[in-house]
Amino acid sequence: MQTNFEEELRAYFGACGALLRGHFILSSGLHSPEYAQCALALKNPAKAAEMAMELKARWRGQKPDLILSPAVGGLIIGHETARAFGVDFLFTERENGAMTLRRGFSLKKGAKVIIVEDVFTTGKSTRETAETAAERGAAVIGAMSVINRMETGKELEFPSVSLLRLDLALYRPENCPLCARKLPLVKPGSRNI
Ligand SMILES: [Zn+2]
Repeated sequence: MQTNFEEELRAYFGACGALLRGHFILSSGLHSPEYAQCALALKNPAKAAEMAMELKARWRGQKPDLILSPAVGGLIIGHETARAFGVDFLFTERENGAMTLRRGFSLKKGAKVIIVEDVFTTGKSTRETAETAAERGAAVIGAMSVINRMETGKELEFPSVSLLRLDLALYRPENCPLCARKLPLVKPGSRNI
C-alpha cells in the first residue's frame, strides 16, 4: 500500500533531480534508463533526518544496539538513523576490495546491528556489511534503505524496511535498447571508490 509519505518522498526526489534519466550501468552490470541519486535527496539534513525517523517508525523488530552502514552511500542516512534510535553509528569501507571495519571501530559480541543503506540495488554491499558484522560476533537483526530497487523476487535474507520501492527498468547489455541507440553509458555508483 502506498502511503502519503511515499508519494511525498517520490515528489521530493523528483524535485531534487535525484531521479535521473539517461543510460546507466549499475553495480550489477545491468543497464537502466533510470537511476536514483540518493545523495541529491539527502543533501538537506532536515529531510535526511525526516527519512531516518520514518525508517525507525516502520521498524517492527527489536531496538538495535548500533547502526552500521557501508561507506560512502550509507553514511548520511545511517548516521541520521542512529540518531533517531539514539544509538552509535559505525561504518564499513573497502580495503583492497574487501569490506572491513577500520578507524578503531569494533563490535561487541552479540551486539544487535541494523545495516542502513541509501539504496538496495543488488543487496551486495548490504550482505558484505552484514558479513563483516557477523564475523565479529555481532547479530544482524535487519536492514534499512531509503530506496529499494532490487529485482522483484531477489529479497534480502533478513527483515528489511525501505521508504520507496522503485521498479525501474533493467536490461542486460546485449539486449539494451539504449546501447542499440548508442547513448553514452554513465557509471554513477560508488562501488569502486
Ligand atoms: Zn545499455
